[in-house]
Amino acid sequence: MTKSISCADTGANCSWSTTAETEEDLMKKVSQHAKEEHEGMKVTPELVAKIKSHIKEI
Ligand SMILES: [Zn+2]
Repeated sequence: MTKSISCADTGANCSWSTTAETEEDLMKKVSQHAKEEHEGMKVTPELVAKIKSHIKEI
């Protein structure tokens, strides 16, 4: 099962999305994206929980 997440799903004004084979890989990509594209965005436990609640399996 491939996991998918869109940045916009988390409430950000951003069209970025990504897929990964595991939730762990997906969260790594999200963290990297947040660091590179959303300067100052902190990946807090609350944000991680929010992101995880929006992960889709495709
Ligand atoms: Zn984004």
